[in-house]
Amino acid sequence: MDTINTQPASIEVVALTKRYGVGKPAVDAINLYVEGGSYCCLLGPSGCGKSTTLRMIAGHESASGGDILLGNKNITDLPASSRGSAMMFQSFALFPHLSALDNVAFSLKMKGMPKPQRHAKAQELLERVAMGHLAERKPAELSGGQQQRVALARALITQPRVLLLDEPLSALDPFLRIQMRAELRRWQKELGLTFIHVTHSQEEAMALADQMVVMNNGVIEQVGSPHTVYNQPASEFVARFMGGHNIIETAQGKIGVRTDHVQVSAPNSSFNTTTARLPVVITDVEYQGTYILLGMQQEGRERALHATAEFSAMVPEHQFTRTPFGVGQRAVMHWQPEQAHPLPQ
Ligand code: ADP
Repeated sequence: MDTINTQPASIEVVALTKRYGVGKPAVDAINLYVEGGSYCCLLGPSGCGKSTTLRMIAGHESASGGDILLGNKNITDLPASSRGSAMMFQSFALFPHLSALDNVAFSLKMKGMPKPQRHAKAQELLERVAMGHLAERKPAELSGGQQQRVALARALITQPRVLLLDEPLSALDPFLRIQMRAELRRWQKELGLTFIHVTHSQEEAMALADQMVVMNNGVIEQVGSPHTVYNQPASEFVARFMGGHNIIETAQGKIGVRTDHVQVSAPNSSFNTTTARLPVVITDVEYQGTYILLGMQQEGRERALHATAEFSAMVPEHQFTRTPFGVGQRAVMHWQPEQAHPLPQ
């Protein structure tokens, strides 16, 4: 019989606030609903308040205001151990001198559970993450992927309904990071648990999340699927932070156009009247394999040194080979109006 209960729960935060002193709160009255059984990524630059938000949900940090609900239970003032959540830390934070089994059993030992019971339970969890045969190994004798599974088993032993992950992959080398994130995603689906994962990496959040939450300066700028956030950034901040967008000032206001949705042609080309266009000077030509990345500056604004006068275009290699551009050459950057979206300030 499966004794491990992993019923997912939703998390809702209402007007959640954290003040560390005077001045602007580190987390400023945020509202967020995370569906039970989904993978949510809190994303944003360093200092935006994402770890503070996660720590408040975990109960490792008190809230200065607002509420946290797990399912329909208000957990705002409960101690961390009775919230129904568990935390997985950066680099997995395993105890190096303990076996995988003792690492997993650790929190049960703290609760005073006798050794045979806690070992049986830890062994069951290790089997669950396909690590049963390596239960006696110390962390140093395990690969990165195996260590991650031990960390996962250790977090699951308290039967959490929500798993909170604080930059679990950021200390790993790039190759392992990509492998581990695929595995995390697989475990989340297999366990059916709610995961809330903090990261500063757009790429990591897009690869993992059902729901992405982009934070800036203590507030939430946008919540949505990776597809929505990438294709319809809600603000200039989100467009710049996600990358891959040109931000262009037009007579109608500021707009965003993906760098793979703009085209670059010679100045004397003829254009359809509906085609939006801007004269530019090529500032950079970078070979990227399947495409060429062109850097451009709006003509006449070369000295502007302003981010809204600098653009990029991803030109497929075969197209670039037909009409190559060199640095210093004049050109026209153009796009179809339906590929632009407004960026409210
Ligand atoms: P992030 O995880 O997005 O990098 P944090 O949540 O760690 O950001 O921090 C948000 C803001 O709160 C930052 O300005 C940070 O300096 C401040 N902060 C975080 N922890 C503390 C603390 N214990 N005491 C005072 N200020 C803090």
